[in-house]
Amino acid sequence: MTILQNIRVVLVNTAHPGNIGASARAMKNMGLNQLTLVEPKDFPSGVAAGRAASAVDILESATIVDSLEEAVADCGLVICASARSRKIPWPMLDPEEVAKKVTNEIGFSNIALVFGREDSGLSNEELQLGNFHVQIPAEEKYSSLNLAAAVLVICYEIRKAASKRNTDEKNQDTETWDQEFATVQQVEHFYQHLEQVLIDIKFHDPENPRQLMQRMRRLFGRIRLDVMELNILRGILTNIEHSMEKKKPR
Ligand code: SAH
Repeated sequence: MTILQNIRVVLVNTAHPGNIGASARAMKNMGLNQLTLVEPKDFPSGVAAGRAASAVDILESATIVDSLEEAVADCGLVICASARSRKIPWPMLDPEEVAKKVTNEIGFSNIALVFGREDSGLSNEELQLGNFHVQIPAEEKYSSLNLAAAVLVICYEIRKAASKRNTDEKNQDTETWDQEFATVQQVEHFYQHLEQVLIDIKFHDPENPRQLMQRMRRLFGRIRLDVMELNILRGILTNIEHSMEKKKPR
């Protein structure tokens, strides 16, 4: 099977370089090769290289960035791996469902699989950048896997789904879309614009936000706006701004 292109593994703020190396190895074993590190605590590192074994090439070509937003800016599908459920539940997939979604979109969108810190996982803000969350169904009393083990499970499911797709013609469902999905960066600009207009029309009070923007993120993230839909919404917001300008008393 060829390398699974367009799929990026993103590790956020990893503390132990051994976990970065072991994740790179797991990726290479499963045919993935794009690694992005968000503020790793100790990298480059001999320990990481040792644990990567024959996957040091993945460490050498890894991209290092300052924030998760930057890591996924050009992605049309972002999946965040999380061991815990959160205050506002987010659309949750199991690893097999993730694999199906991802393999349906290889070559269509850039895809990010995001993994959190060893001690505290991903923050709520980081989790809200995801279209979907994935939880590996583990033992309830101890459900938190080692970081590289979690990377391996998700990448393995993607590999299995991708090879099944290659061999089984009937399995190729045609979940394609006529327009490109908007990227995280485009959608983030839309959220900023939306928030501003909601403040201007006095629907939203940033002093008393009541999770409004989180709920808007969940709504649009679940739908996955395409570029055309996003432009229509931006146009509507701009027209609201213009008509408010006109109504202002002189
Ligand atoms: N104690 C942390 C877990 C950190 S484990 C917490 O409670 O959130 C490091 C990372 O591995 C997690 O952020 C997540 O991305 C991934 N991970 C570990 N176990 C997982 C599971 N059961 N399902 C999905 N991701 C998991």
